[in-house]
Amino acid sequence: MLVKCRDCWGRGLISITVEEDCRPCNATGGYGDQICVFCKGNGKQESKKDVTCDTCHGNGKVEDYKKQPGTENTPGFGPGNGKSGFGSFLIAFVIFIIVLYVLFRWVFAGINL
Ligand SMILES: [Zn+2]
Ligand SMILES: [Zn+2]
Repeated sequence: MLVKCRDCWGRGLISITVEEDCRPCNATGGYGDQICVFCKGNGKQESKKDVTCDTCHGNGKVEDYKKQPGTENTPGFGPGNGKSGFGSFLIAFVIFIIVLYVLFRWVFAGINL
């Protein structure tokens, strides 16, 4: 059973922080005596980058090995199956009662006439 990947929330991508060379100062940290305002003299800038999720390999979905209670679908034992089974039994029972009632009405009507 495939479930939404918990590491990337189904996006297939995760955001990581990477260090990149500061472009404005060309990774030198400044311009002559001036310290670069973008990297504050480090020559590096942190930036967020979206990379393919390792857990689901970009699919956004993973095979769920740990079955969660309530989500498993056991044939004949699920809450949906039980409800529909009881519902059709109830409908059949009501129809049976109506047919009996109509039959009795006809029978008694015949006797009275
Ligand atoms: Zn810089
Ligand atoms: Zn993922």
